Amino acid sequence: MRVQLLPSTFDSQGHATLEQRLTCFLIDESVAVDAGSIALALTTEQRRKVRDIIVTHPHMDHIASLPIFIDDLFETLKKPVRIYATQEVIDLLERDIFNWNVYPRFSELKNEFGPVMEYVPIPKGEAFKVRHLTVTAVAVNHIVPTVGLVVSDGKSTVAFSSDTSETDEFWSVVNRVPRIDALLIEASFPNSMANLAEVSRHYTPASLERDLRKLNHNGLDILAVHIKPAYRQMVIDELEALNIPKLGVMESGRTYSW
Ligand SMILES: [Zn+2]
Ligand SMILES: [Zn+2]
Repeated sequence: MRVQLLPSTFDSQGHATLEQRLTCFLIDESVAVDAGSIALALTTEQRRKVRDIIVTHPHMDHIASLPIFIDDLFETLKKPVRIYATQEVIDLLERDIFNWNVYPRFSELKNEFGPVMEYVPIPKGEAFKVRHLTVTAVAVNHIVPTVGLVVSDGKSTVAFSSDTSETDEFWSVVNRVPRIDALLIEASFPNSMANLAEVSRHYTPASLERDLRKLNHNGLDILAVHIKPAYRQMVIDELEALNIPKLGVMESGRTYSW
């Protein structure tokens, strides 16, 4: 499985930088997990291929350019863009984003080929298919309804925490999978901001370390994502100080293979 964290920040020459302000992972050039930078950072070829998007929760950094992505493609879509999300997240997207005020309700619009966007409600704790991938969504501990994901292509398996603070269910689902190749885990705030991390339900390196003790798998790559750009170096230093084997920081724009 190939996974890329799309870039979301660009320097004055337009080159992508490593700071992550938006969340969008691209799997095997065809399936997106979240859609923060989906309209900004895909190549033309990728934009042509991606029609399946799993939305873990409706926070702006995870959906910011989703409406623009569909707008861009509107005339050319021969099949609708499928948005996979729990029913509660679909309801929030319809109420707060695709509500004719913030942006058009694309789920009601058609081009000359048919509907341009359709929702696919996903279960929690039960596997479902997204193209060639088998996905299990599990509720995590965030301030709005949010799911983490365990994604398998039949050969390798990657777990995505999405946004969360300390949680149990995600780890028990991850531990039930026979083998995990990589864990992409959020680490938003430095330890000095533990209070803000707690009220906004995010990890710090310290709370992440406590939760990683619940993980029974060994030898997997653990890559931190969702580091707040303003505290990036501080969080990276604190993660390094944990001395956890194979714990690193995921680089946006780089394609990882497992
Ligand atoms: Zn969030
Ligand atoms: Zn977020």
